[in-house]
Amino acid sequence: MAAPEEPKPELVPLTHGRLEEMRLLRRRLLERGVEPQIVTVPELQASRGLYLLAVFRRDHETAVQVLDEVWQETLPEVPAAEVDSEVAGCPACGIALEGLPEYCPECGIRLGHAE
Ligand SMILES: [Zn+2]
Repeated sequence: MAAPEEPKPELVPLTHGRLEEMRLLRRRLLERGVEPQIVTVPELQASRGLYLLAVFRRDHETAVQVLDEVWQETLPEVPAAEVDSEVAGCPACGIALEGLPEYCPECGIRLGHAE
């Protein structure tokens, strides 16, 4: 079925959140040459009204950097207690994190704990 000579660029999830946040991030990413796509994930939308922002795998590294910068700007919105705690939730999707992973296992956002 699929054309083997033309592999489709693979989309990988970058982060997720409210639609207006994803639109904002999308604009920032576009400025840096990344072409993100806002994806509707039925489970996310149904349970929390969230949208997924996905990028092509080749853009993922750049996108994560841009996301880092944006999080630096928006970090004050995250409750300090959650950031300081070792069982902090993911700042993007809010799931509880076990240990200090470098990437959120739920949404894939870089948390940077491994450094
Ligand atoms: Zn997450």
